[in-house]
Amino acid sequence: MYGWAGTILTIDLSKEQIIKEPLDMDTAEKFLGSDGIGVKLLWERVPAGTPPLDPANIICFGSGPLTGTFCPNSGKMSSVFKSPTTGLIGVSTAGGFFGPELKEAGYDLIVLMGKAKKPVWIWIDDDDVEIRDAAHMWGKTAWEAIDIIHEEVGDVPTITIGPAGENQMFGAFCLVMRSRALGGVGSGAVMGSKNVKAIGVRGTKGVQVYRPDEFMKKCKEAKDKIMSHPVYAGFARYGTPQWSPVLIAQGVVPVRNFQEGVFPEGEEFLDPETPCKEVFVKSDACEGCVIHCGHWCEVRSGPYKGTKTEGLEWYAEYMFGPYIGCTDWGFVTKASVECNNLGIGFGAAGMIAWLMELYQRGIISKKDVDGLELTWGNQEAALEVLRKMAYREGIGDILAQGWEKAAEELGGKDFQPLITRLITTECPRARMDVALSHIVSVRGGDHNKALPYFAWICPPEYIHKNWPDWPKETPDIYNPIGKPEIVDWIEDWKCVNDSLTVCYWSTSVTMPGGTNPTDYAELLTYATGVEYDEKKLLEAGRRIAVLERAFNVREGWGRDVYQLSPMFTDRAFPRGSQAGVKADMKVINEMVDKFLERKGFDSKTGYPRKETLEQLGLDFAIKQLRKLGRIID
Ligand code: SF4
Repeated sequence: MYGWAGTILTIDLSKEQIIKEPLDMDTAEKFLGSDGIGVKLLWERVPAGTPPLDPANIICFGSGPLTGTFCPNSGKMSSVFKSPTTGLIGVSTAGGFFGPELKEAGYDLIVLMGKAKKPVWIWIDDDDVEIRDAAHMWGKTAWEAIDIIHEEVGDVPTITIGPAGENQMFGAFCLVMRSRALGGVGSGAVMGSKNVKAIGVRGTKGVQVYRPDEFMKKCKEAKDKIMSHPVYAGFARYGTPQWSPVLIAQGVVPVRNFQEGVFPEGEEFLDPETPCKEVFVKSDACEGCVIHCGHWCEVRSGPYKGTKTEGLEWYAEYMFGPYIGCTDWGFVTKASVECNNLGIGFGAAGMIAWLMELYQRGIISKKDVDGLELTWGNQEAALEVLRKMAYREGIGDILAQGWEKAAEELGGKDFQPLITRLITTECPRARMDVALSHIVSVRGGDHNKALPYFAWICPPEYIHKNWPDWPKETPDIYNPIGKPEIVDWIEDWKCVNDSLTVCYWSTSVTMPGGTNPTDYAELLTYATGVEYDEKKLLEAGRRIAVLERAFNVREGWGRDVYQLSPMFTDRAFPRGSQAGVKADMKVINEMVDKFLERKGFDSKTGYPRKETLEQLGLDFAIKQLRKLGRIID
């Protein structure tokens, strides 16, 4: 087989069975890889209404048909499951080396199902797959578990969970190697619910491509396109902290739980040169990457001196910076190491800012939070909250149950910075691209599914040239006109990125004029021998996007799921360029309606139309949705 490895590896933990099934070629052609094939498996194998932490939920980890090849930036992976964080579909991507190694071991996806009777870890050594005892790792931090695995089998790529995952904390993540993560929507809690501490993989088989000469020529062309792009140099030097000047210019830095949009005391902190001076040692990258947005970091002075890690991207910067009123890259580094070791998602760590606002407002006091002084910027208290969340101690146990339960216990629901059940770092009050892309995101409201970054950095002429039928206002982020069109397109294109497992920092999702669907259709054709063109590739993306949304509908969510917290609709920044601006739900709802109709869903109910599913070859979904009364016939 070319491009794809050709095998899905299912591990039934309850029955202790290892099942290798051939990858169905029709599925591969239509759903591409990781994300796409994962959502189809989720639909087929998880009964409707399954609680996320029930053994009947599955978690898929996958590569794509370009993973492990010379295609630039194709070394990512993704996971798919029903999310304990949101109750919606859980889709997360991560970098590192695990995805390519899995492919080289001969597998497109791993599917974990059931629940092991006792803690286990999974060892995949090419064709040999073992369910091994993990009693000696259970209770250890993620990095300790990695050390144990490396002692047992050598220095191989790993997926691990920390104590937060073991204790099924709502926002626990799976750590990929030491610092990449399948974050945001609770992948670690699902692993923990299955009693799986880790997966290690060694692959030595390589990946076959169908037309190697043309493929290599096209890879070189794609690499040159990425490396000659104007956004490239900033990404390569700073990584995602390069976005900070954009947020400053827009007046939307998330300061103290979004109470402020400007952060004058953090001007130096937010300067992308500051981490370069203070903690970055050298750049680092996922397999096959030509950008190198990651960094090896070491704190050079202060109380966290000597702390080392790889990573430090914008979620860490904001969650442990302006969100909680801190301006110290040493602390950001330390808190990132803590999150990675404990296995806590950086989004879930955003609960600290919410607690601090409740503390500021007198809604909670010291006695509610185990005597902690939760004043803004208190680094020690923030680290202690993280530890308590992971081990479910005291206040940590309340937080570990998720946003809804925590608000029931503590109050302050209206101060939770949530969009469609998920925490955000992006303010949706004025920016219409953010508001729409976040509120309609199938995994909950963050930037990972459909944010048209290129509207932030793109010359309007680019959009007008490439999509002449789109409204001329499309590039204006403060204008709702054109946003349903652009968010609809980005969602499909991003599903392609996540299914091929190419990093969207290298494609035209982020880089206007960068590598685009036509480039990847060509690469895919040369890699697999299956003919693709731009239309067929984007149709595959749409098929995946529609099935993900239909999965949420099947699980009980309709039009009512698309919501902004009152903190965005009822309060505004007191100063800065966005002073006084509140989210206008009338305008946002009009965009949501238009988006849903474009996508082939009914804007009143949020349910898919039968013909949408038929046109995309998703007939298998119709019967179930009809039985549930959740389809428009
Ligand atoms: S740009 Fe960053 S996240 Fe993307 S592949 Fe490169 S190192 Fe990994």
